[in-house]
Amino acid sequence: MQLESHQPAGWHPTVLLSLLALWLATLGNVPLWLKLAQVSALQQPTQWVMFFGWGLFLWSAILAFTGFWIWPRWRKPAGLLLLLTGALSSHFMYSYSVVIDPTMWANVVNTDVREARDLLSGPLGWVLLMGFALPGWWWWRRAVRPVPRGRLVVQQVATVFGCLVLAVGVLWLGYQDMASLMRNHKSLRYMINPFNTVYAATRHNLGRASHAQQPLRRLAEDAVLQAGAASGGEAPLVLIVVGETARAANVGLGGYARDTTPRLQQLMKRGDMVYFDQASSCGTNTQTSVPCMFSAQTRLQYDPDLRQENLLDVLQRAGLAVLWLDNQSGCKGVCERVTHSSAAKLLGPERCPDGECPDGALLEALPAGLALLDPARRARGTVVVLHQMGSHGPAYYRRTPPGFKVFGPECQNTALTACRPEEIVNAYDNTIRYTDHVLAEAVAWLERQPQPAVLYYVSDHGESLGEKGLYLHGMPYGMAPKEQTHVPMLMWWSPAYRAHHRLDLPCLRQQASQPVSHDHLFHSVLGLAAVQTRTYLAALDVAAPCRGELLGFRGANPGAS
Ligand SMILES: [Zn+2]
Repeated sequence: MQLESHQPAGWHPTVLLSLLALWLATLGNVPLWLKLAQVSALQQPTQWVMFFGWGLFLWSAILAFTGFWIWPRWRKPAGLLLLLTGALSSHFMYSYSVVIDPTMWANVVNTDVREARDLLSGPLGWVLLMGFALPGWWWWRRAVRPVPRGRLVVQQVATVFGCLVLAVGVLWLGYQDMASLMRNHKSLRYMINPFNTVYAATRHNLGRASHAQQPLRRLAEDAVLQAGAASGGEAPLVLIVVGETARAANVGLGGYARDTTPRLQQLMKRGDMVYFDQASSCGTNTQTSVPCMFSAQTRLQYDPDLRQENLLDVLQRAGLAVLWLDNQSGCKGVCERVTHSSAAKLLGPERCPDGECPDGALLEALPAGLALLDPARRARGTVVVLHQMGSHGPAYYRRTPPGFKVFGPECQNTALTACRPEEIVNAYDNTIRYTDHVLAEAVAWLERQPQPAVLYYVSDHGESLGEKGLYLHGMPYGMAPKEQTHVPMLMWWSPAYRAHHRLDLPCLRQQASQPVSHDHLFHSVLGLAAVQTRTYLAALDVAAPCRGELLGFRGANPGAS
């Protein structure tokens, strides 16, 4: 009894924190340790010294970080939060070889139920049990020894300070090795739990805050329709299809050994379609690529925190009717100021069970979507964007309706590493083949419309299907493999459009063999829709060299000055 009053039961709060830091530095960072073991040969004793140094550095850095802000009042939830982020990011880093950087964080916070559901898997359940539930239960149930506040502050601040000194000391001693390792393996810096998540979330929120504070910058205020663009029932109909996760390497049109694009091949043979076989994306994820391709900025200029109008605003300003029809997790801000809807909203749960439609539903929803537009604008011309679900992973098999499964067997496990490589490719190729069907049907629909029409398809980014041990996408651009940045892009023009705009097809085919990118979308669509503005750059319009004067009109090309 007397012993208890002198030495109350329970753990000292700072000791508990150091145990949490130990867990996070070791088991909470399994992917980092595996990567370190992989990139450094382990034979020499110096390598083991380096490993020990990394461990000591991680432990002291995490303890300094947690000791800085975790105080008794929110100790329990804060510990759970760290365990949960560590377990989740470890799972995704290990299972798909992704890293946690600010754009990956933006993907996480902008996801929807459908996307999240696709990521559920048995292994994730195990990781959450072992990496979160069990240690979390232990953490929650520990009795804590009451320590007078003043003494605790002194002890914890001293611990933080001591740990900082230790971390800096280890860094200083091992700087040469650690720095060269980080330089040679850049992904390592995004793999350190929990700092990767803390950094990514902070950067993302700072960017969003600055974005929200800025007034919307107007763009191309001088935009007008070129004279004669809509004369005599010639108001153009431009259909832009924004693909999802389609990579060029698996597209038959681009030379893939498998015939994943039979219907588009036929259209190519007919001669009114061109395929750009050297197109590259602006980003490696939807969150970056979609706003970037509709912005007036190039990939190198693109700043996600800049609040500026985009292509759709400019088209609308020029007097055109603009519609965004979504079949995914939204337009990432691009369609905020134009008419927008989704296939699921327009068609209802019968066609789209659980809120998910096959991409074919986008075309079925088009008449209802077009009915939302102002007829006076439609008389001048219409631009429609269809945002596909495309080849969104890892549940590729869910993207293809039953009648469109040409290649088998398909991987039906969202934990992709549980499947054989060819099963993953089969499921993925079926999604490309289905997109082939959707695009061919889009052309068929355009051919039935009275207006001169154009189809412009480009995917938002590519995908890794296990090459170099990588899955999915979202690698920071500078270290992303070509599979994630080389995307399919194609254009089709109706004969009436080609005649009215005097397009030279052999010239366009020649253009299609040149390297192009998402940088070209903004200016190419202005050209296709015959919108004139000083913001237009002919050098970034793929069709500019191949376009004559509008039929029956004399005057310069849009913005050719
Ligand atoms: Zn995407």
